[in-house]
Amino acid sequence: MTESDLREKLIDAMAACIVGATDELTALDQAIGDGDHGFNMKRGFEAMLAEKPAIAALDWPDALKKAGMTLVMKVGGASGPLYGTLFMELGKAWPEHPDRPGLAATLAAAIEGVKKRGKSERGQKTMLDVLIPVQEALAAGQAGLAGIAGAAAEATIPVQATRGRASFLGERSIGHMDPGARSTALLVACIENTLGGTA
Ligand code: ADP
Ligand code: MG
Repeated sequence: MTESDLREKLIDAMAACIVGATDELTALDQAIGDGDHGFNMKRGFEAMLAEKPAIAALDWPDALKKAGMTLVMKVGGASGPLYGTLFMELGKAWPEHPDRPGLAATLAAAIEGVKKRGKSERGQKTMLDVLIPVQEALAAGQAGLAGIAGAAAEATIPVQATRGRASFLGERSIGHMDPGARSTALLVACIENTLGGTA
């Protein structure tokens, strides 16, 4: 498989898993937000799918930047600029050798971009609560990132939100999984699945 084929496969996989989870993400965001996360993500990843040939034809840095710009334009909400930043920064920091240490450093740089953009940090019941443990596991050479991401999303349930729309609920945000943490965990799982045979 060529690298361009792999990029196409990743876009197909991410779009399929986000579109398939639209209702679940909607329900999570209805509980502690405004209920738009499912459709925001669906819109963004369908737009990425529509751009698949153009994105996949680029090299990794430019493909990631273009994917990020597509998400910024199409996802909307708070999560659009944050997911957009994540992908664009992955492109900017793409390593010369995309091995595990290289990818871990790239993800660390992209997470810094998300933190800056969101004025947020770990422990505030956001996507960062999944991104950061996944980065740490990647850096430590651990396998099973999907499981780590899934558990990290679950671990947002007892947390009180202090960033994003859910923070308006104060203590009432406790007891629900963060929608952005869940969508991040879904993406990690489908990326790992897709890379399964190739990484
Ligand atoms: P909105 O909150 O504008 O309706 P979405 O529903 O699409 O946007 O996305 C909500 C998700 O975005 C949250 O579940 C959370 O994970 C993430 N999020 C919101 N604000 C921040 C922030 N400041 N930093 C990191 N992630 C955030
Ligand atoms: Mg929302």
